[in-house]
Amino acid sequence: MLIVQKFGGSSVANVERVMNVANRIVDTYKAGNSVVVVLSAQGDTTDELIEKAKELNKNPSRREMDMLLATGEQQSVALMAMAIHSLGYPAVSLNANQVGVLTSSNHQNARIKRINTERINSELDKNNIVIIAGFQGYNRYNDLTTLGRGGSDTTAVALAASLNADLCEIYTDVDGVYTADPRVVKGAVKLEEISYDEMLELASLGAKVLHNRSVELAKKYNVKLVVRSSMTKEEGTLVKEETKMEKMFVSGLAVDDNVARISLIGIEDSPGKAFKIFSLLAKNDIMVDIILQSLAKNNTIDISFTVTKDEAQETVKILNENKERINFNSISYDDDIAKLSIVGAGMATNPGVASVMFEALYDVGVNIHLISTSEIKITVLIDKDDANKAANSVHDKFFSQFLLSK
Ligand code: ADP
Ligand code: ASP
Ligand code: MG
Repeated sequence: MLIVQKFGGSSVANVERVMNVANRIVDTYKAGNSVVVVLSAQGDTTDELIEKAKELNKNPSRREMDMLLATGEQQSVALMAMAIHSLGYPAVSLNANQVGVLTSSNHQNARIKRINTERINSELDKNNIVIIAGFQGYNRYNDLTTLGRGGSDTTAVALAASLNADLCEIYTDVDGVYTADPRVVKGAVKLEEISYDEMLELASLGAKVLHNRSVELAKKYNVKLVVRSSMTKEEGTLVKEETKMEKMFVSGLAVDDNVARISLIGIEDSPGKAFKIFSLLAKNDIMVDIILQSLAKNNTIDISFTVTKDEAQETVKILNENKERINFNSISYDDDIAKLSIVGAGMATNPGVASVMFEALYDVGVNIHLISTSEIKITVLIDKDDANKAANSVHDKFFSQFLLSK
């Protein structure tokens, strides 16, 4: 079999863990498989590199950030190859340029366009274990790019798709995908399997166990994807097209605190205002999430929406620069907030779901700022300080039944 195995930062954080992973890789290789490994930077390396940059420049160039961040993954792959050599097995490390991971030019949030499989295949033909730096690529100007935080998962799935691998295993510090972040919600339950669609929603809504684009790719190319622990031999969670989970009306809960709410107050109530605001933001590559428009009062309306925290300052600046053109009174801004979402394919046909969620929030005295719903998810915006108790309360309400039936 051809297997792609990805190990996240905590799985390779120190010498012991690198050796532990090296042994696991060698076991897979010894069992007769061709093995392609994708690694993240060790431990908190990426965070530390970002800190270092900010000490010198509060607003560093995105191109230079990518030059810097890509070094984290390059360290990991070289060290892993050395560890495998020390066990007496053949391995070669490769960075994005050597492999040929071509991406868009969008620094720090680049998308993979094409992966050249020639070099990898020639190394596999030589019986090498091939160890590839995750998270990085290069663009058409031959500059290094990165795929956004958590992007090594996407490197792994993209490689599995390009190489037509039989299996893509994502090894991390939990033993699978749970109904909620097991570090936050005490009663979270491990799922045997989850559908691509539900996993995609959970990942997009803040469950960082998988990078959302990795799930998108896995669905598109039908990659057999498993999430499991690098520390134990537990079987993990299989992410696939159809699952029995779909009969449940809620399959998971996610919390995302990388959000900020921006409100434009006192906008003149006339056609085209929303268009003006959101086309302006789109032109500046700002991703807007939940949007809420109030009813008109005294011929003015308010519009609130959320963006990611790192884009919030820039969003406010752009809107202020266009104050006259949009014609609003004031802007308010809050980033001490969190987004709490529940996801489930069966939600559309169960009208009571939203009210159960709101009741669970009421039970613990949590105030809701914004609500957004779709066929398979309900999201509320709440204070960040309330996130943990809200997540536990909502999870308990929905999953107590599920837990009993397990
Ligand atoms: P890695 O470094 O291996 O990529 P991450 O920190 O990116 O690991 O992702 C794993 C973390 O995701 C877990 O430690 C857990 O706290 C978090 N997480 C959030 N939601 C979930 C969930 N539904 N199931 C499992 N883990 C989750
Ligand atoms: N090292 C990168 C990060 O910390 C990529 C990854 O871990 O997937 O975001
Ligand atoms: Mg990750």
